[in-house]
Amino acid sequence: MSPNPATLSARGLRAEIFRHPLPCSSDPELFFDLADVDRPKKNAVRKRQEQAAALCADCPARAFCLELAIRERPEYGMYAGYTPEEIAAIADGLNAAPAEGRAA
Ligand code: SF4
Repeated sequence: MSPNPATLSARGLRAEIFRHPLPCSSDPELFFDLADVDRPKKNAVRKRQEQAAALCADCPARAFCLELAIRERPEYGMYAGYTPEEIAAIADGLNAAPAEGRAA
């Protein structure tokens, strides 16, 4: 049984993530080379984000990856199927949620 991501340290989350075969390791440019570009290329970036998100959907480490991204708020790339803006919104929503938190 996998541990609850919310109970792990950042180091523990990384250990859980790298214990699994990761779809992003086979094509890191698809996930982490998504820099802002001029408007004519934005559709291409969006398409790559969607491709990355589809691979994340089947990733066995997704819950750990999302927890780490929520804590670290990356500035670029795709993590657990989300853009940095989406991760920031998730994190802000969790911070605004009632005290029962996400560990339940
Ligand atoms: S969920 Fe995280 S670890 Fe898994 S493929 Fe996506 S970015 Fe990589």
